[in-house]
Amino acid sequence: MSVLTGSSSRGRRVIHPDTELRAVDPRVGMGVAATSRIPKGTITWARDALDLGVSRADFRRLPELFRPGLRKYTYITGAGEYVLCWDHGRYLTHSCEPTCISPGYDFEIAIRDIEAGDELTGDYAIYNIESGFDCLCGAGRCRGRVEPQDRLGLVDRWDQVVRDALFLLPTVTQPLWPLVGNQAAVADSIAGRAGVPSCRVHFFDPDD
Ligand SMILES: [Zn+2]
Repeated sequence: MSVLTGSSSRGRRVIHPDTELRAVDPRVGMGVAATSRIPKGTITWARDALDLGVSRADFRRLPELFRPGLRKYTYITGAGEYVLCWDHGRYLTHSCEPTCISPGYDFEIAIRDIEAGDELTGDYAIYNIESGFDCLCGAGRCRGRVEPQDRLGLVDRWDQVVRDALFLLPTVTQPLWPLVGNQAAVADSIAGRAGVPSCRVHFFDPDD
């Protein structure tokens, strides 16, 4: 599952076909690795109809037995829904220098080239984690501890790097493009007819 010593692991939805589940190390558990090169600008995950969405009300009604697993393998949408990815995307691990970030759309893209054998990672601070954790990602710019509020200081940089990658989207192979539900809006962003929505749209604050 994840890089974490804490209880939060945020999964993804349908993940790129050129990936596989892999044991990362005993402390981290399982992760997702590329089986061939995935270039910058590739959609690495998109939400699809088989992903299980659990409302906050339904989550509270579930027997306690279910909650640790859901907290570990789901992420929380901007609307506060818990989403459990049905494929190995739910094992995506955290890195403080992630390979994939979501623009303000319901997919993630590679923000740099991912070579065969490299791990796909995201920054859990974007997934509405409910508590912080000590990070074992080993990145050069590892924050040491990842907290929910980290996103506030990172969002402008995320928006910038994901925007750079998004403009490469038409230039690389996109096996997950058929799963993108708002293709016209994405095309408008890439063509400059509309802005690229900030990943702030994914932020959920339970106190709002
Ligand atoms: Zn880290």
